[in-house]
Amino acid sequence: MGNLVAIVGRPNVGKSTLFNRLTKTRQAIVNEQAGTTRDRQYGKSEWLGKEFSVVDTGGWVVNSDDVFEEEIRKQVLLAVEEADVILFVVDVMNGVTDLDAQVAGILRRSKTPVILVANKTDSNELQYNAAEFYSLGLGDPFCISAMSGSGTGDLLDLVLSKF
Ligand code: GDP
Ligand code: MG
Repeated sequence: MGNLVAIVGRPNVGKSTLFNRLTKTRQAIVNEQAGTTRDRQYGKSEWLGKEFSVVDTGGWVVNSDDVFEEEIRKQVLLAVEEADVILFVVDVMNGVTDLDAQVAGILRRSKTPVILVANKTDSNELQYNAAEFYSLGLGDPFCISAMSGSGTGDLLDLVLSKF
């Protein structure tokens, strides 16, 4: 059906928390334990009367860094293929990591619109941390707190403008 928003990024940045907020469910398992989730989770969302689908990626169970990177790569490539908008989630508390840079490298080459989401911006001070994500070459980081919901309404306005 219609429009699909894919949530991608390295583990622990808050993808599933954002998915749950957008779909208003507890479908995705946050902080998943080994063996508890499949690697893609689809849900429905609605904003300002417009319906769209959301896919959360990365409930992986892997034990080596190489497999891990390969899985993330696979999920990002799938997202580029199937999604109309990609939410690339990063973590302002942790800053830019090698995995973030690798994901960004794939997304910079994609024709699908990408929104760089600087999650865990729980306070105004943390907004200053978001500046370092300009180095990923994907434009302005969009600050939100998936946990509190701060910024997610404005993010949805931006998502709708990309369909
Ligand atoms: P995923 O691996 O990317 O799906 O990340 P999860 O959604 O499982 O979240 C990983 C951890 O980050 C959990 O402990 C969440 O509660 C926490 N988390 C998610 N969003 C936020 C946020 O906006 N602020 C803070 N402080 N923690 C968050
Ligand atoms: Mg998750």
